[in-house]
Amino acid sequence: MNSLLESYVPITGGEVIDQLHQLARPLRGKCVVHVNSTRVGGGVAEILAKLVPLKRELGIDARWEVIAGDADFYMCTKSFHNALQGAHAPIPADLLRHYEEVNRENAESLRPVLEEADIVVIHDPQPAPLLRFFPKRKGKWFWRCHIDVSTPYRPVWKYLRRFVGEYDASIFSLPVFSQALPHPEYLIPPSIDPLSDKNRDLTDSEREAVCSDFGLDRNRPLITQVSRYDRFKDPVGVIEAYKLAKSFAPGLQLVLAGGGADDDPEGEAVLDEVRAAAKGDPDIHVLLLPPDAHVTINALQRSSDIVIQKSTREGFGLTVSEAMWKGRPVIGGNTGGIRLQVINQHTGFLVNTPEGAALRIRYLLSHRDRLEEMGRKAKEFVRQNFLLTRHLREYLSAMLAVTIEAGERLELE
Ligand code: UDP
Repeated sequence: MNSLLESYVPITGGEVIDQLHQLARPLRGKCVVHVNSTRVGGGVAEILAKLVPLKRELGIDARWEVIAGDADFYMCTKSFHNALQGAHAPIPADLLRHYEEVNRENAESLRPVLEEADIVVIHDPQPAPLLRFFPKRKGKWFWRCHIDVSTPYRPVWKYLRRFVGEYDASIFSLPVFSQALPHPEYLIPPSIDPLSDKNRDLTDSEREAVCSDFGLDRNRPLITQVSRYDRFKDPVGVIEAYKLAKSFAPGLQLVLAGGGADDDPEGEAVLDEVRAAAKGDPDIHVLLLPPDAHVTINALQRSSDIVIQKSTREGFGLTVSEAMWKGRPVIGGNTGGIRLQVINQHTGFLVNTPEGAALRIRYLLSHRDRLEEMGRKAKEFVRQNFLLTRHLREYLSAMLAVTIEAGERLELE
């Protein structure tokens, strides 16, 4: 088995891979270029690093280009990110001019590849103005939005809309994130890669090593939340839920696992609050993990009885699918993309308060058969809906939709 696509067959079944080959046939040889603003770090880069080689294997001339910017440019695009996710964050006019200028410079260096490309996919706001600089473009251009723009700060969205409205189509992750735009909009949720270190099967000794590193007792129940230390992820609410649940599950242990907060002053403050709330209870483990702790996170999710994602606001919440793929029911905040993954009472429970979460923890720990059954359903739900192969299929379908002429038919066997 030397092909990358073939290695997914044991997980997805051969038909899924056959269908990808069939869908890709009319796109063979076409030049498809993805453009974003970073090669490493963040979910977008992680997904592109997988999707682009898979598309190439399907015979598509897929490429991945990254725009370059300076500190002012990233300051501006960070403000975009905050404003589009609802923060009141006006952006000064000179910073916006700089943003457009950086895009103009990048357009010049990318001109040979983008002008002739059959399909261009521009990811997020950073490179959104690029299209303006390609009046002679040959192909179809998508704007792919990965962030929650359901309630943006209007002046910033109005500014960005001038650029993205000119695209041939756009792609959003969830229906509630989409915005009125004068072109077709596609909905494509994110995905996890079942073969990555974060999600692959682990041996018992790999799990054991991680548990013993952190002093976790494998004979006692464990609940875990994996998240950046961010108030929207409600880590303090998780501790409250744990404390309430502990009164009827005395041996209960809690892991809160998140990344370092060096470059994020608010992260530091949240971590302090979390440590204060956890103080005095040796069964609460507050972990600060390095960015490449994929196997550690995998082992923690697999070693947990239940995984929590008690966010009060959430774009998609990859951690939810990651846990469900490991056969764990998820108790998730009733918000954003968590609702797409946690089907209440089936793949986990949706909750609004720490009390609600505690009640569900209690229920699952005392009904092991239901816990197992929900875990099985959760895994199957992810297999059907949130694996990389589904993501690729939907990208191929959207690309076909914009390239196929009206009246042309594509028949799948
Ligand atoms: N993650 C990680 N280390 C951490 C915390 C999170 O690798 O310390 C990973 C997590 O497993 C998931 C991603 O980062 O793959 C977070 O994505 P999600 O959509 O859950 O939340 P976001 O941080 O994008 O709001």
